[in-house]
Amino acid sequence: MAVPFRRTSKTRKRKRRTHFKLRVPGMVECPNCGEHKLSHRICKSCGHYKGKEVISK
Ligand SMILES: [Zn+2]
Repeated sequence: MAVPFRRTSKTRKRKRRTHFKLRVPGMVECPNCGEHKLSHRICKSCGHYKGKEVISK
């Protein structure tokens, strides 16, 4: 249900917004080169996945 925005105090609004934050989903460090990569995907910078699988560049 829509609420007129003045009914929501600044404090309530700010408190609600503490829950949404900027974040990059699913980023982990590549165990091979230490770059940030998406989990369960091959690493873009070195082409490794699970220690061995390689994409040649
Ligand atoms: Zn890597």
